[in-house]
Amino acid sequence: MNREAGAVSLLGLPRDELEEWFVSRGEAAFRARQLMRWLYHRGELEPRRMTDMTLSLRESLGRTAGLVLPNVLRHERSADGTRKWLLDAGGGQVIETVFIPERARGSLCVSSQVGCAVNCPFCATGQMGFNRNLSAAEIVAQVLVARREIGAGERAITNIVFMGMGEPLANFREVVRAASVFVDHLGLGLSRRRVTLSTSGITPRIRKLAAVSRVALALSLHAPDDELRNFLVPLNKRYPLGPLLDACWNYARETESREITFEYVMLDGVNDQPHQARALAKLLRDRPAKLNLIPYNRVEGAPFKCSPRDVIDRFRQVLLDAGIMTITRKTRGDDIDAACGQLRGTVLNGRSVPAGMSARA
Ligand code: SAH
Ligand code: SF4
Repeated sequence: MNREAGAVSLLGLPRDELEEWFVSRGEAAFRARQLMRWLYHRGELEPRRMTDMTLSLRESLGRTAGLVLPNVLRHERSADGTRKWLLDAGGGQVIETVFIPERARGSLCVSSQVGCAVNCPFCATGQMGFNRNLSAAEIVAQVLVARREIGAGERAITNIVFMGMGEPLANFREVVRAASVFVDHLGLGLSRRRVTLSTSGITPRIRKLAAVSRVALALSLHAPDDELRNFLVPLNKRYPLGPLLDACWNYARETESREITFEYVMLDGVNDQPHQARALAKLLRDRPAKLNLIPYNRVEGAPFKCSPRDVIDRFRQVLLDAGIMTITRKTRGDDIDAACGQLRGTVLNGRSVPAGMSARA
């Protein structure tokens, strides 16, 4: 199909922007609702088949709408049913999307950036450095590709988490746009509690988010004090714990969220000691907080080990005794490097190529 130069992608546009787009082209605003139903309810991206549109509109959409999904470069399936897709982001770059089927739900873990600039020393994505932000179209496209690949007969996508590659709040505008499509009933129609944004903690953006979105918030805490957090999440030097936690409590209040989820990766001998559990309990006690302990997934070249099971259990008990809802997250998909913190393309000269493909090509 021949597209006009500068064709915008209508994929991933929130409903109000889509309406504006149609109106600016002399079309009725309700065309936006029709288009969204085709894209997100019926999974139809070919304008020629959008039979409730006029013929001339279908033709003009075909030229201008840019409705294409990225190619799947590789597909892997873990022994536990977790699936990972490597998608072509153009220019030699790849992004990863992971589907985690569970008994009562299916979570899709989407990427928001190619790489990440925050550089947490335990994370594979951090090691690859930052390449670029993804557009809302590229974020929403991950869901459409996964939905197509999963097909019928498997557990559907019931939850979407921004826990793939990237720091979502560093790509604020596009992430908020994509999230609005996820929760719109003409989009993917998920309840706002089933869309979770996980952040390493850009305090002013958490405040800003409360004004424009009401999705569930997860904070990657990983340490109970500034000194250790400065090391584990380098962004902490700019956005220290006190004001960061205040922004979280404020988010819970303003968005009427039941709680904020705190993620805490268990690193042997680094952040897993009883006094650290007690300090953590002090930070979260009597707050709208729930804690997820994440067993550390090995990353090549990173100097960390996962805490032993009994240490994790004792750590958890201290938090439970303080009345804090605490669970230990199950590791999923680690045999295909799809577990938390294991997502990366192989990086060469600042360009990413999917692992296993020739780096010289
Ligand atoms: N950049 C965002 C979201 C993506 S990471 C963030 O940091 O919140 C999702 C979660 O996995 C984060 O809590 C992250 O700290 C954690 N994580 C990163 N590397 C990990 C590893 N190797 N093992 C376990 N969890 C890891
Ligand atoms: Fe970036 Fe999150 Fe990895 Fe830190 S843990 S480097 S913020 S993706």
